[in-house]
Amino acid sequence: MKAVVIEPGSVLGVLGGGQLGAMFTMAACRLGYHVAVWDPDPEAPAHRIATHSFPGPFTDHHTLACFAELTNVVTYEWENIPAELCRSLEQQKPVRPSSAVLSVIQDRLEQKGFLASNGFPVPSFARLTVPDQLATAVRHIGYPALCKTATSGYDGKGQWRISQESDIRVVERSLSESARPGMRWIVESLISFERELSILVVRGADGQSCTYPLAENEHEEGILRTTKVPAPGSLAVAERAAALGHRVVDRLEGVGVFCLELFQLPSGELLINEIAPRPHNSGHYTLDACSVSQFEQQVRAICGMPLGEVHLLSPAVMVNLIGDDATTFVKGAGSRTLLGIPGAVLHLYGKREIRPRRKMGHVTFLGDPLSLALDRAKQFREGLGNSPSPSA
Ligand code: AMP
Repeated sequence: MKAVVIEPGSVLGVLGGGQLGAMFTMAACRLGYHVAVWDPDPEAPAHRIATHSFPGPFTDHHTLACFAELTNVVTYEWENIPAELCRSLEQQKPVRPSSAVLSVIQDRLEQKGFLASNGFPVPSFARLTVPDQLATAVRHIGYPALCKTATSGYDGKGQWRISQESDIRVVERSLSESARPGMRWIVESLISFERELSILVVRGADGQSCTYPLAENEHEEGILRTTKVPAPGSLAVAERAAALGHRVVDRLEGVGVFCLELFQLPSGELLINEIAPRPHNSGHYTLDACSVSQFEQQVRAICGMPLGEVHLLSPAVMVNLIGDDATTFVKGAGSRTLLGIPGAVLHLYGKREIRPRRKMGHVTFLGDPLSLALDRAKQFREGLGNSPSPSA
């Protein structure tokens, strides 16, 4: 298939102006594009650097008309953008990844259904449409289980753990209290994984695709804390993850950057936790440790340009700055101390308000071999006062 090429000088539209939108904007500007950012929050980081800023609500028809008129191609920075908005834009301009891909991915039931029906490995799951059927759903899955809202959850929000029968009543009540009309949930088997991994896949409009090295991730309270690259361990696992990534994104016919979040079982088997249809937090290291970052790849893929070479210049460890971690950087002498650690690259997202669990920035530690980057990250986290687990 011949791809339509969007040349430098054109205007790329991005829905959502958080840190991912901002990093996309910087990569696009470096390649000679202009960027229109649409985010209802006027304080969103990407508005500060956008060529054109649209702070209207996503339901505003006038903003939609202006945004569609101005842009040559549209993408989005996260999956909770209204699919309806993408469908409307798609009638006028290319949207990549497409609204059809977004619709499958933004609903956990649709996404898991798509993966399972295509033979891809996922934890066993059941659909829940009314809270009082929770016991039936859990009986089908077994204990322990995890109940998640089908839409809008992220970073561990909208999740309930069900370890034993006595949890059913408590969770049922919590679901009923937070339920909105038409709300659905997915009940999944709680996987006792050996480790969490992720693989970034880039696929162009012509169907060519490439993957980044396998990454190993550690989460705290459902939020990504650290990423190590390349993931230590067997090459065979990395090869299987890459092959899985190519097959899933081909099957989706996705154009852009995708991330598969994976669980590795003690047997070595890989299960897909979820797919993100966009650059991912676990791929932020690519900004500093790769010749072409995940954000530049997104620009290239949606513009029909050749994909960049995936070349890891150095092993890396990325540490997220979450909530109060950022205080020392914004108000104290943290930046100076950090900038003195060899191989440390600091990214602050410029968010005005520090809130608990909010991603405020990240630091990439470069070092070869990986153990050197790990030592630097450990030294930094000890300085922050949040001790890493022994392996991080
Ligand atoms: P999610 O929002 O689905 O990406 O989940 C956030 C984190 O919760 C994941 O990175 C895992 O650490 C954990 N998690 C999610 N689903 C499961 C599951 N089925 N079994 C075990 N842990 C899970």
